[in-house]
This record gives sequence, structure tokens and C-alpha cells, in this order.
Amino acid sequence: MSADTILTCRDCGQAFTFTSGEQDFYASRGFSEPSRCADCRATRKSQRDAGGSSYGGYGSSSSMAVVEGATRRVAVARRVRCSR
Ligand SMILES: [Zn+2]
Repeated sequence: MSADTILTCRDCGQAFTFTSGEQDFYASRGFSEPSRCADCRATRKSQRDAGGSSYGGYGSSSSMAVVEGATRRVAVARRVRCSR
């Protein structure tokens, strides 16, 4: 199992975590590692989707898979906060 990697976002210059789960996902798709953080990717994706369709970008299962690691992390944090 691979370890999480810290990458630097090309757009905003922030360090972000490329998790082992995301690395597996990218590898399985044959993608190279991301050059932007999740925020900037989401921003770019929503901008691109806005040009192509009027849907708002929520219906794409592939985009959900990319952010799944971050979403899961938020869910865990929320659960910890609620448990007390
Ligand atoms: Zn960024």
C-alpha cells in the first residue's frame, strides 16, 4: 500500500494531500498525479461544466470518485465532532 503524498497546487500554490487511495484511483485510470488541489480542480471543473452543460456538475460519478477521499475525511471529522 502506498503512502499519502504532499503535492503543491499549480494554481493557488497551497500544499495538498494526494492520498494513497487517490493514487490508486489515478493509477488505475492511467492518470498522472494531479497538479492542482481539490479546491482548484473543483473550481476548474465547475467552470468547464458550466460551459458545456447547465447541470452544475453534480451528476458526474467520475468527479465524485476523485473527491471521494476528501469527502470521506470530512465525514469522519464530522462524526468525531458529533460523538461528544
Ligand atoms: Zn489550489
